[in-house]
Amino acid sequence: MTKKFSFYIFSIISIVVFALPALAYDTKRDTVRATVMYGQQTLFDQLAYASPERIKEYRDSLLSLDRIDIDIIDQLNLMISISKMNKVEVASLIDSLFEMNLIPYALINQINLYINNHPPSDISPIDLMPEFIVNLFQSQFPADTFYKDWNTLIPHPYKNSLSNKDTSVKLILEGVLINDGFVMPIENDVMTSSFGWREGKMHSGIDLDLEVWDPVVSVFPGVVRVAKYYGGYGRVVVVRHYNGLETLYAHLHRFKVVSGEKVETGQVVGLGGSSGRSSGSHLHFEVRFKGLALNPAHLFDFNKREIINAEVVLKKTPSGYAALPKGVNMYVVKKGDNLFEIAKQYGTSISKLCELNSIKRNNFLYVGQKIRII
Ligand SMILES: [Zn+2]
Repeated sequence: MTKKFSFYIFSIISIVVFALPALAYDTKRDTVRATVMYGQQTLFDQLAYASPERIKEYRDSLLSLDRIDIDIIDQLNLMISISKMNKVEVASLIDSLFEMNLIPYALINQINLYINNHPPSDISPIDLMPEFIVNLFQSQFPADTFYKDWNTLIPHPYKNSLSNKDTSVKLILEGVLINDGFVMPIENDVMTSSFGWREGKMHSGIDLDLEVWDPVVSVFPGVVRVAKYYGGYGRVVVVRHYNGLETLYAHLHRFKVVSGEKVETGQVVGLGGSSGRSSGSHLHFEVRFKGLALNPAHLFDFNKREIINAEVVLKKTPSGYAALPKGVNMYVVKKGDNLFEIAKQYGTSISKLCELNSIKRNNFLYVGQKIRII
């Protein structure tokens, strides 16, 4: 992108942040920098000029009360996350607020007052790629095109209707955004329980052994959607990633992020523990797309500690999605496997597997046998 073009984009952004709403709505503003106000109402008068640290203190004091107003906490978290945003992101946030059914004017006022006093951090225009700008303008949160919903209270808020029309979806896990990359969620990679059916119950993630206080990190960059205590998960963090996936980190001992906070690859989201329904300290780690659990072992190589392939095709099955790393079309039979389970796992049928491999459905499989799955 040329410098001139960057400057042009940035001029537009500045107009969007500070001036466009002023032209469109009844406002009062000064001549130096417009503080756009929609009526008199703000959320927290006493915090209009407070620093992010002061807002955090206020939020923490509310969190220590017996009755917690989740809406107020969410709004405060939003104010805190704004302090880390740049102009593009603030503009996109305000845009998205105007698109809500009930436009939260008081919140917009609060944000406007805040950014007037704490101008958003600038980023080098040279570092911005056009697609990134487009992405930010289109959505407030990562991968909004897949989800169109941002729920900060429930780890799995999505209905089946979100995915039931899908047949297959290609996701680019790495390499499209400036700030991407992948790391494993913890240092240790001893898996104590794998993905799938365990004693008649579905285990929607994997369990990795850890010691209490071990750092747990976000595997991709994204934005924290949920960071709260939730039933059997205990203290749980859910991160929405720009590549479309959501990852979940459960049984934490401590949170290190709040809902709405942007995280980088490898940023600590919490400290490991055994909160919730957990016997002994471990990390319960889930990877989901549109709320449906994927087998992390189909996406990540736990020995090499990297993603198997940057491109992955998610094939819709009756019960979820089967992840097929691009170029991977053979399955190596493990102890206890049968054709039904393999077919289910890869979103295909027993007869299709038999046809592809010239075998009969009552043939024995042996450990190490390679089965063509596509
Ligand atoms: Zn688990």
